[in-house]
Amino acid sequence: MTNSKEKICILGGGFGGLYTALRLSQLPWAMETKPEIILIDQGDRCVFTPLLYEMVTGEMESWEIAPPFSELLKDTNINFYQDEITEIDLNHDQIKLRQNGNLDYTKLVIALGGISSDFQIKGVKENALYFRNLTDAEKLKNKLRLLEKSNPEKIRIAIIGGGYTGVELACKLAEQLGKKGRIRIIEKGDKILKNADSYNRKIAEKALRERGVWLDLETEIESRQEDQINLDYKGKIDPIPVDLLLWTVGSQVSPLIKDLPLSHHHSGQLLINNYLQVLENEQIFALGDSSFLEDTKDNSLKNIPPTAQVALQQADYCAWNIWATINQKPLLPFRYYNLGEMMTLGINNASLSGLGIQLDGLFAHLTRRLIYLYRFPTWQHQLNVGINWLIKPLKIQNL
Ligand SMILES: Cc1cc2nc3c(=O)[nH]c(=O)nc-3n(C[C@H](O)[C@H](O)[C@H](O)COP(=O)(O)OP(=O)(O)OC[C@H]3O[C@@H](n4cnc5c(N)ncnc54)[C@H](O)[C@@H]3O)c2cc1C
Repeated sequence: MTNSKEKICILGGGFGGLYTALRLSQLPWAMETKPEIILIDQGDRCVFTPLLYEMVTGEMESWEIAPPFSELLKDTNINFYQDEITEIDLNHDQIKLRQNGNLDYTKLVIALGGISSDFQIKGVKENALYFRNLTDAEKLKNKLRLLEKSNPEKIRIAIIGGGYTGVELACKLAEQLGKKGRIRIIEKGDKILKNADSYNRKIAEKALRERGVWLDLETEIESRQEDQINLDYKGKIDPIPVDLLLWTVGSQVSPLIKDLPLSHHHSGQLLINNYLQVLENEQIFALGDSSFLEDTKDNSLKNIPPTAQVALQQADYCAWNIWATINQKPLLPFRYYNLGEMMTLGINNASLSGLGIQLDGLFAHLTRRLIYLYRFPTWQHQLNVGINWLIKPLKIQNL
């Protein structure tokens, strides 16, 4: 039994951090071991990133995909701080916050996700929009509104990266802008969606074709000026006029993590063991995009991707293992169950594969929506959004 009250500090309120906090608050605590649970995030809302595209097209409202922490945590014993974490001081077991001073902890959970990287390409930082969080989605929405208002013949959009985000964004924007849109994906590999299931790739290629999206494969961006990008195709530089450049590739870890005196993977994430603890300190857990499982013999854990699906599954284990540590019970090694993948490929169109099922079109779109509804963090939010979908005239009814 511990004598003093445990203080669990969870850094980051995304898929890893928020769901760990919620699970921890639901576990059965005895009076004498009940810890203080603190969740810290710089934002006031949890962002459900897989549905960020729907906010840009207006299919969903921001309160649906980014509910405020105050609402999600109101019936729990979790203390939420909206603040920027400026330092993690492992020597003094302390977190430094920009507004609220220092916080001590006895257990630490690091779930700070990643940040976009521009690969130091000339003009990118100044002239491109990223697509990672709510602010990025709002910026994109405003920019599209301005471009549409200025009424050019064509709105020319270049999307860097033919991964999931690039392809999903291209399909949504192409459909939203219709004949006015001129959308191209610039991908340095020889195919799009190199990590995707082949069924989903095939459906995505068809969706892009049907929506008139151009694909520039084996092409890289060399530099960007205000209304032009210079593309490098096998050494030949080609200038292309653009109204909007969207950057969807590359991710790096938070600078807070980079310099921590802990073991790191070569791409910067914290190395963790099967119990999701960092290698040097059993009181510190890390999960989601800011962590990397140390080389393991468990095949289910080889090359697990940085996805919400992984972070959500890790959150259950992380909460349980913290509970087990405090209650002196055995810890559970993390097992990953790949449940498949889903992609939105336009308005009312999606593809989905996993657990032996393959779907596309409208039915896949509806199934994807229902799965995400089920994945929302609290039943109150599920109910509010579910009711909103029922009473709001869905776009599907206009088909
Ligand atoms: C557009 C988009 C679409 C995606 N679609 C899918 C999908 O369909 N399926 C899927 O499985 N995955 C998807 N992902 C990936 C998924 O979002 C991430 O893998 C997941 O969010 C990782 O969870 P996390 O908890 O590690 O980090 P995050 O969810 O990113 O949470 C990190 C949190 O830390 C906070 N934070 C960071 N630094 C600080 C600081 N200094 N101070 C205070 N707070 C801080 C951030 O505000 C953030 O809330 C998508 C990602 C994007 C960008």
